[in-house]
Amino acid sequence: MHYPTYEHPATKVIHVVTDQTSCLCGEVYNSFYQLTRRDLRNIKFKDVGTINCTECRNKLKEVQRDLVSVKS
Ligand SMILES: [Zn+2]
Repeated sequence: MHYPTYEHPATKVIHVVTDQTSCLCGEVYNSFYQLTRRDLRNIKFKDVGTINCTECRNKLKEVQRDLVSVKS
């Protein structure tokens, strides 16, 4: 599966983006909030395997579990 991701320029950590101002893990919310329009163009759809933020990966698993439980 592919998700919208953003590579943090300073830390090189790839996060999952949930909307224009935040990523899946709350930790870097503030830096996302300060993103400029140009930064938003850096959001790319990438395979789940390329996401290297542990927190985002964990949250992603939770979301997927929720989706499965809603279906069943
Ligand atoms: Zn993250």
